[in-house]
Amino acid sequence: MSLNSKENVRCPQCGQMSEVTVWNSVTVKDSADLKQDLLGGLVNMFRCPSCSYAALMPTPMLYHDEDRRLMISFSPCSDSVTEQRLFDKVRETSGKSGELKGLSGYNLRFVTDYNELLEKILIFDNELNDKTIEVIKLMILSQDVDKAGNRVCRFGKSENGVMEFMIYDVKENMTYTSSVPIETYNTVDKNLRESGVKPYSFDWEMVNASYATRLLQGFNN
Ligand SMILES: [Zn+2]
Repeated sequence: MSLNSKENVRCPQCGQMSEVTVWNSVTVKDSADLKQDLLGGLVNMFRCPSCSYAALMPTPMLYHDEDRRLMISFSPCSDSVTEQRLFDKVRETSGKSGELKGLSGYNLRFVTDYNELLEKILIFDNELNDKTIEVIKLMILSQDVDKAGNRVCRFGKSENGVMEFMIYDVKENMTYTSSVPIETYNTVDKNLRESGVKPYSFDWEMVNASYATRLLQGFNN
């Protein structure tokens, strides 16, 4: 069930108080419109009615798509130490509550970045798996090793047998696109499965560039 609460927020820019609806849980099954708002970047986004200042609310949110057996725990934060602490906490709480028993066959993801949350939803909506996508993103970025450190690669779309990725270069302030045939996905996906990587989770997972790097170093899951 999708759950929300109301919060009174003081605008950090102009000081105006306003009431914001904060979503703690988004369940796709009973809230298709809410999912569209989420994909449009509107959910848990504070917008000051007085000065138009906008910022993401620091509220954790759980995204649940029952049909796709996908659950994403989103805890906004921007430093890796806090990220690890929050991730450990989600795993610990989930383990203690016995919640995992009811989620067999699920993909369970932990993310701290709004764009990453949206990217994951898109990937699974396209019936792809993000573990394979993360490996392909590393392959794309490794084509220009010198610039890889300044670049963020995100899955864009998949249609007519071609996947499109967006590459944002922070230093150049430029966005590039990269097209990858779906056959590449199928090959990488098959290789990962054969090496023991599962298309579902045993526990909450952070599937990102470091995860993909570990996979390429021979770890599975
Ligand atoms: Zn304001």
